[in-house]
Amino acid sequence: MTEPPTNIAHLFAQAAKLAFAFRAGLDERPQRPEVGYAEALAAFEMPTPQTGEPAETVLEDLVRRATPGLHATTGNRFFGWVIGGSHPVGVVADWMTSTWGQNAGNHTASPSAAACETVAARWLLDLLDLPREASVGFVTGATVANFVALAAARSEVLRRLGWDVEAKGLFDAPPIQVLIGDAAHSTVFSALQYLGLGHERVTRIATDREGAMLPDAFTRVMRNVDWDAPLIVVTQAGQINTGAFDPHPAIIHATRVHSNCWIHVDGAFGLWARACPTRAALADGIEGADSWATDGHKWLQTPYDCGYAIVRNPDAHRRAMMIAASYLPSVGDGERDPSHYVPELSRRARGFATWAMLRHYGREGIAALVEHHCRLARLIADTLREEPGIAIVNDVVLNQVILRFGAGEGAEKGDDLTRRTIAALQEDGTCFAGGAQWQGRWVMRLSLISGETSEADALRSAGAIAQVWRGVREG
Ligand SMILES: *Cc1c(COP(=O)(O)O)cnc(C)c1O
Repeated sequence: MTEPPTNIAHLFAQAAKLAFAFRAGLDERPQRPEVGYAEALAAFEMPTPQTGEPAETVLEDLVRRATPGLHATTGNRFFGWVIGGSHPVGVVADWMTSTWGQNAGNHTASPSAAACETVAARWLLDLLDLPREASVGFVTGATVANFVALAAARSEVLRRLGWDVEAKGLFDAPPIQVLIGDAAHSTVFSALQYLGLGHERVTRIATDREGAMLPDAFTRVMRNVDWDAPLIVVTQAGQINTGAFDPHPAIIHATRVHSNCWIHVDGAFGLWARACPTRAALADGIEGADSWATDGHKWLQTPYDCGYAIVRNPDAHRRAMMIAASYLPSVGDGERDPSHYVPELSRRARGFATWAMLRHYGREGIAALVEHHCRLARLIADTLREEPGIAIVNDVVLNQVILRFGAGEGAEKGDDLTRRTIAALQEDGTCFAGGAQWQGRWVMRLSLISGETSEADALRSAGAIAQVWRGVREG
């Protein structure tokens, strides 16, 4: 070993300095990476290291090589995908998490990590106004939260028929019917695929132009389900493009007559509407479901990776996820073991960053943040609606806006103009927005969800979009 001694105080101070420099420079730089994947790969490419290098050299070299290919996802005018801003308070809590190096696996490995999760879980249920007896697993994101919750669903609907899926698997098990909206998020289909339920053998329910299930279509399908076979219904709170909510009261009403039905809600960002009094009506009825998936790294602004799998029936949740071994400590009666609600054993103590963000915002701060983003989405939509040739495609009920360019010019031409406007906007760099196909046509998507975006940022971005569009149109 030739590794020189590391001066930790200096190293940590240097990391803080570099972190600050990155965040402080975001407003000035284009809201997109300076280089693409090929250049980023070239920047990192080198032979397998043989001789170790000093800590500070490694840190500075990492930052130097990575920076050009970093996206401004924590910037003020970043509206791509649905991406939270990694709030500084969450970041420092996460630094401490890494520094402490705790394994959140169980009470003995880290009493504080386990305790912090228990309390943060209770706060989440309170803020989202979900059944207080529900269990919460701290996972990597909504994808895994969907997987965990649907594993609990699979376990419970089969247990009611006397089938132990954890022990016996799915071979020869009674078939499970799955109903899902046609505009559900791709990760729910992935979760069904991981669970042996298949992403194709589902019944897809027709949706309206916002991507919400049509209550009549749902009722019609319900009339034809097998009343003796278990049923899992997957709904959505916050469609990835439009922000729309499935009609939960109608769905829950229609399924009440089925004796073995489980309703799961994918609410990666939309579930947070429940924490905002002016938007909570959108998410009415959701408390009647059996499980919910949501993210910390979207609206709560925790750093990646952080999501929550919430299940009304903790026994089903534990049955689906429990890891037991004689060398693993057991918990006392009524105590929560963090590993019983997630697929991993060793993992990051995500409760600390969650706890820190919930403390920092409080109930009022979260409500204000959700309201702020929804108001900015409306502001951008209303500003751009005035611009000739721009159409606002969705009903802006939440934080998502989708736009078409070349309105009235025909479908193909509109697709072409929309894609060119997206490319030109990304090149311009004032703000970042991506594209998607929505109901067969290209749209520009804006997601207002980063903590830092101000009204001035929103107006400046709307101005940039209008200007870039004029350039494309006159082109
Ligand atoms: C983001 C998102 C997901 C996936 O969440 P990850 O955090 O990326 O795993 C699932 N559903 C919806 C509606 C989403 O917006």
